[in-house]
Amino acid sequence: MGETIFSKIIRKEIPAKVVYETEHVLAFRDINPQAPVHVLIIPKSDIADATEIIGSRHAELLGELFDAANEVAKLEGLEKKGFRLVINSGTDSGQEVPHLHIHLLGGRKMNWPPG
Ligand code: AMP
Repeated sequence: MGETIFSKIIRKEIPAKVVYETEHVLAFRDINPQAPVHVLIIPKSDIADATEIIGSRHAELLGELFDAANEVAKLEGLEKKGFRLVINSGTDSGQEVPHLHIHLLGGRKMNWPPG
């Protein structure tokens, strides 16, 4: 098992502001928000990054992650204005926590290209 700070959040050993939870997915507020809404959506299973996703094995989980993202967007009132989903994977992306997570960012106009 890859032990990270997110493993501890999943096990409720350290606190997090959880906004949405299902059997397989957890969504909680980023501790260092980059937008008025910044929520991290993670699988509860041990997946380090996007390279560990295998379509045939994880299709259902990916669906659940996107369902959760859309649910969070609704709960946060972002449905109409929109939002950005980001997955950092690996060193060049700036990934800091080696547990797959989708950043959901919203509540302000986003810039493109990203930094
Ligand atoms: P990444 O750079 O894509 O790996 O993103 C990791 C994110 O996790 C960063 O945006 C951090 O601010 C966030 N983060 C780290 N520790 C915590 C924590 N204990 N609770 C909530 N968010 C965290």
